[in-house]
Amino acid sequence: MNPSPPYDPEARRATPLALKVEERIRRDGPISVRDYMHACLQDEEHGYYRTRTAIGAAGDFITAPEISQVFGELIGLWCAVVWQQMGAPDRVSLVELGPGRGTLMRDALRAAKVLPGFLDAVMVHLVESSATLREIQAATLTDDARRPTWHDSLETLPGATPTIVVANELLDALPIRQLVASPDGRVERMVGLDDAGRLVFLHGSTVAPPPDGVAALADGELVEIGDYSLLAPLGGLARGAPLAGLFIDYGHWVSPPDDPIAGETLQAVRHHAAEHPLTSPGEADLTAYVDFAAFGRQAGRQGFGVDGPVTQAEFLGALGVLQRASRLMAANPAKAHEIEAGVARLMAVPGMGSRFKVVAIRSAALTPLPGLARG
Ligand code: SAH
Repeated sequence: MNPSPPYDPEARRATPLALKVEERIRRDGPISVRDYMHACLQDEEHGYYRTRTAIGAAGDFITAPEISQVFGELIGLWCAVVWQQMGAPDRVSLVELGPGRGTLMRDALRAAKVLPGFLDAVMVHLVESSATLREIQAATLTDDARRPTWHDSLETLPGATPTIVVANELLDALPIRQLVASPDGRVERMVGLDDAGRLVFLHGSTVAPPPDGVAALADGELVEIGDYSLLAPLGGLARGAPLAGLFIDYGHWVSPPDDPIAGETLQAVRHHAAEHPLTSPGEADLTAYVDFAAFGRQAGRQGFGVDGPVTQAEFLGALGVLQRASRLMAANPAKAHEIEAGVARLMAVPGMGSRFKVVAIRSAALTPLPGLARG
């Protein structure tokens, strides 16, 4: 399952962050994979999301809203239907976590014009850690009368307000832990230095007691533990008002048995090509598969109902992707081929249509959310 090419320490790039991390390890000792991933993505000076505008054909990776406007439009309509399910409250926070270039939100708000009452009620909130991307989001969303409010974290989102949350490819960017089964028990996987001073993976100290489900590993097997702690502030909001959240990401879902799945999925992508995660610290996107079973269990502990996951193809299909695409093609004949190709890419099985999964959480009083009934 390890998606990375083999590590070649000779191919290591002396990025500014590599030098900073090596210095930190020389000073303080090895760091956990989680701290390494956090530094790579979020380091104040050299973190990938702090410095780059990585998303899009010219960047390192492309995402669904950048492939087709239909993606954000259908999510906008989904939000409008959920708002009706909430009883059409006259105020609703529409929150996007990790909005990238702001494209999904722009397309969602445009499509939601068919329900003017919804748009009148909407206050847009964007949770974004990257100053660079915030600027791009502001530029993307200038046409819209609803000025977004930006947040560093979920803690500052308004309480006591009905809330709809969407997040595409956010969970895969949250730092994971890796544990390895060894004769000493479950050990934390670390990043340290080899004799030549180059970054390498090492075994750290024993983790006791091992987290849920990690007991059943064979020696040498590795397991990843995702960080879904954002569910706690969402659970807090849901205790004051209805809340629905839609999460789209690649990952796995095994149930039963719903143990963490053995195997490494941490991966690096730079200029649309896979790299080893230690090769270009801070200059490659680092992600890991989402463990949707663990996400669902943690959501349940916060009192949420969980709908799905279904595949992206099932979700978009249920929301009428083909009808929407054909209407759009009829209205823009010159772009018909482009529209068709974009939708085909989002729906491809095998491909994005099956690799990406959609899961939703809802506060207990809400009925199941649209598009997520499992076949
Ligand atoms: N949703 C967008 C972008 C996905 S990339 C799209 O589909 O195109 C991941 C996004 O999450 C980026 O905007 C990144 O800056 C943001 N991000 C990553 N970690 C974050 C964190 N801990 N808090 C807030 N935003 C984060």
